[in-house]
Amino acid sequence: MLSLTVCPLALVLALTAKPGVRYLWCELYGRRNFVRDSIVRASLLAVSRSQLFNFVVLPVVMVTFFGLRVVAQTHPEIDAWIPKWDRLLLFAVVILLERIYHYRYAASQRYVLTRDIISNIVNLYVNGVVMALLVLPVLLYLPQHFLGRQLVFASSDQLGPIWLQIATIAVLVSFFRYWMHRLQHENQFLWELHSYHHRVTDLKAFNTYVSHPIDYALRNVLVYLVIGIVGFDPIAILIAVPLTFIGGALQHCGADLNGGVLNYVFVTPQVHRWHHSAQVPEGYGHSCNYGVEFPIWDMLFGTFYLPRKNGETLQPERIGHPGGFPDEGNYLRLLLAPLGLWPRSWRKNFGLAGTERLPRA
Ligand SMILES: [Zn+2]
Ligand SMILES: [Zn+2]
Repeated sequence: MLSLTVCPLALVLALTAKPGVRYLWCELYGRRNFVRDSIVRASLLAVSRSQLFNFVVLPVVMVTFFGLRVVAQTHPEIDAWIPKWDRLLLFAVVILLERIYHYRYAASQRYVLTRDIISNIVNLYVNGVVMALLVLPVLLYLPQHFLGRQLVFASSDQLGPIWLQIATIAVLVSFFRYWMHRLQHENQFLWELHSYHHRVTDLKAFNTYVSHPIDYALRNVLVYLVIGIVGFDPIAILIAVPLTFIGGALQHCGADLNGGVLNYVFVTPQVHRWHHSAQVPEGYGHSCNYGVEFPIWDMLFGTFYLPRKNGETLQPERIGHPGGFPDEGNYLRLLLAPLGLWPRSWRKNFGLAGTERLPRA
């Protein structure tokens, strides 16, 4: 198990390290392997960095993410020792990539670091537990009441072969999240909750989980609870859930990673940056690229946007709130204002929150 985790990580390190760091890597690895490593190093240097981005780094990171998630699901005993250890490791990988491949339009997020940390802890450690406590009894009651059992389907065989169940879960999760996310941009109250996620001025590993807890739960927790009571084969869940997890975990990677052809299969950082553009692309209404893991729904429903010029994928120059609001470092405000419980907005407006209006479509 450990080798399954360590090997992809070592590969990411070796492939992404700058020449100097790679040399150190060789030194640490031992002189016995120096000749072999020199050949590897020479061949790596012969390939341009952009080619590495396109063909190696992102796929390796994705496979690593997938592997870690599978290991985490099959080894709950490690989770009991270090809760959410796989996510923490992923944070480390993404931060490492951000350090190595500096993004040309990068903006510092240090002034909101405390808010980021609190938001990460709440959405990573508390949100799922609270949602499960509140929603699961209701979800479990329905099949129990109407069908006399805990799961909707009595046997997973009724749901078809494993490959079909994997595809069904991936389609259900991504379709639900696409429309929920779109609704969060189109409905006034849901936008109040979601708009905070759009105040960040750059995408970084640290603001992956910066969201109002209700906003986060509606998009990222609810659907998995529903999937859990359908009665899918555990093997199908074991494979499909990490598949839907890769994109979401990578979306906010602030590294200058070129997704290449993967931009059209997964929601890569290059795709998600346009969703966070301070300037909504002309003709795209409230926003574009709503997909959380796969961009297929954006392509089908006409909301996919990823311009290219001279063979290069373009990126927005400025990330930020489409209505021009500055970032907000006060976590309590993030939590209370959309519910109308923040004094300033309370005074301003006796309605729900009134801190924001939907940007014009
Ligand atoms: Zn959004
Ligand atoms: Zn985002």
